[in-house]
Amino acid sequence: MVMTFCMKCGKELPDYARFCPHCGAPVEASEWEEFQVAADDLIGRVKELIREGNIRRIVVRNEAGETLLEIPVTVGIIGALFAPYLAALGAVAAMATRCTIAVERKE
Ligand SMILES: [Zn+2]
Repeated sequence: MVMTFCMKCGKELPDYARFCPHCGAPVEASEWEEFQVAADDLIGRVKELIREGNIRRIVVRNEAGETLLEIPVTVGIIGALFAPYLAALGAVAAMATRCTIAVERKE
């Protein structure tokens, strides 16, 4: 399932929207993919996704749909920049049992 979210306010967008109905920002072409993971698999899955290389952003949500962590995936994230996110992911995994990972892919 592919869903689109506003780059500016993060709200879900209707199909084929060119402007966000919530904040009016123009919609950039990108694809979102979502999947559920057990908290124990969270860190491993995020690392795998970052290694895939065509990802712009990773958002981790809890079962209630609240955003817990947002990771902008840049070239530098693979090195030292990833350490604080790793710590944050560990904290998320300790609190949650299941999480949703939303991934924004570059076209
Ligand atoms: Zn918006």
